[in-house]
Amino acid sequence: MSKLALAVHGGAWEIPAEAAAACRAGVGRALARGWEVLERGGAAVEACEQAVLVLEDDPMFDAGVGSHLNRDGCVQLDAILMDGRTLKAGAVAAVERLRNPIHVARLVLERSEHMLLVGPGAEQFAVEMGVSLCNPSELVIAREVERWYQEKHKASAGPPLRARSAGTVGAVALDAAGNLAAATSTGGTGCKYPGRVGDSCLIGCGCYADNRAGAVSATGYGEHIMKVVLAKTVSDLVGAGAEPQAAAEKALATLGERTEGMGGLIVIDKSGRVGAAFTTPNMACAFRTSDSSEAVVRL
Ligand code: ASP
Repeated sequence: MSKLALAVHGGAWEIPAEAAAACRAGVGRALARGWEVLERGGAAVEACEQAVLVLEDDPMFDAGVGSHLNRDGCVQLDAILMDGRTLKAGAVAAVERLRNPIHVARLVLERSEHMLLVGPGAEQFAVEMGVSLCNPSELVIAREVERWYQEKHKASAGPPLRARSAGTVGAVALDAAGNLAAATSTGGTGCKYPGRVGDSCLIGCGCYADNRAGAVSATGYGEHIMKVVLAKTVSDLVGAGAEPQAAAEKALATLGERTEGMGGLIVIDKSGRVGAAFTTPNMACAFRTSDSSEAVVRL
């Protein structure tokens, strides 16, 4: 039986002091849910899905309910789940009527020949799989309407947008059978152009999992992350023998050097070693392995 390992994150930005406790509690709950799955012998894909479901349902984070609004004041969600055993991913992008896009990403992974479905096609697939669509307004919360309004009227008073950013969410896991998986889910960037799709749901950019190397979930400005194919870069470094922590730090240094971008990521290698790094002021994250009886929660 392989060692178990699980890590989750709630986005790498600047987390204001008043939001810190809720972010910490949120990633802790997500870790606990995913860990239960691994402990009862469940698969890494299931653990990642369950952990991300908790974070999508938590309005503290930029995923599912509570996501940032786009330029037109709508929520458009992207999510991906990748299985390191098969290298198959399931992803959805620019969906507006799915409360839990990570669940539909799992359905794409397991019940579709395709890897990425977008917009109305993704929603139609969800319905065919028995998922109910939500009203788009159910995903919108007052904090995000206020943020959107301030962004639209930049001259108004208030702290800069970035200082109040909620984050993209993700999870990576190694199960008892030795399989790795990774998941990432996001509402994307605030006031993004309608139809914009970021790195989060793109295989190799915001997420990657390969049983021969590692599982990675990344966060940060998608237009930077895509340029360096961040998650695959980390997985390749780990596959070539780097320690997960060193690989995470090296890839983020490359992101900074080549794009001037900041970000964060979590990584687990095939032996269950965990790395977590960020070049933003904060990243909420939590991890646990079967080597220790305690979860580690960091901000
Ligand atoms: N990577 C996400 C995007 O650009 C945003 C984030 O991670 O906060 O859509």
